[in-house]
Amino acid sequence: MNVISQNLALVRQRLREAERQAGRPEGSAGLIAVGKTWPAAALAEAYRHGQRDFGENYLQEALAKQDELKGLDIVWHFIGPIQSNKTRPLAERFHWIHGIDRLKIAKRLSEQRPDHLPPVNLCIQVNVSGEPSKAGVSLAELLPLAESIVPLPRIRLRGLMAIPAPVNDVEGQRRAFRILREALAGLGLAGVDTLSMGMSDDLEAAVMEGATLVRVGTAIFGGRA
Ligand SMILES: *Cc1c(COP(=O)(O)O)cnc(C)c1O
Repeated sequence: MNVISQNLALVRQRLREAERQAGRPEGSAGLIAVGKTWPAAALAEAYRHGQRDFGENYLQEALAKQDELKGLDIVWHFIGPIQSNKTRPLAERFHWIHGIDRLKIAKRLSEQRPDHLPPVNLCIQVNVSGEPSKAGVSLAELLPLAESIVPLPRIRLRGLMAIPAPVNDVEGQRRAFRILREALAGLGLAGVDTLSMGMSDDLEAAVMEGATLVRVGTAIFGGRA
């Protein structure tokens, strides 16, 4: 378990170093710890060492961990694929939902977000690699979708998210992240300023291109259980 705190410290070091290199303020790249397949005890260990934002991909697994970790002031991010008939628990139990790729999902979240909670934060997933098999909207679809989401009540469009196809060279990694950064700038929507991009293997490239939230699993928790 102790290894989680060491890994977390290393990831934080990598983020601070990348921020320095990019000339960005310290702490401007936030860290989401991605706990998919890891037990609640592993998340609790990261929490004990100051981690507050956690990301999950699978709804049932996420809800079980939320129950186990009830009472901790965790910010929960859903980063997995979204089924339109499973939006209610997302609307009720998460603070952020990153994989928005159609209006129907955003509308349901808007309708199902409980009144007593603050608006749920949404990121639109963009297919920056242009692969037909990849999730996310195309650049052409992005602006109309964003403009239809913004006016919905009880949700807040915060920015964009991407999972680029893995490439080994930093230049190639940066190219994909740059597409997302430019897409966000192109929207020109006030308050829509989040770039959710970068994982264990490419977080430096993501921070260089302006990531405000990186999503890191393996480098914190180890190889998937
Ligand atoms: C698993 C996952 C991550 C974390 O990936 P690592 O390579 O383990 O850091 C980030 N984002 C999404 C959407 C994921 O599914």
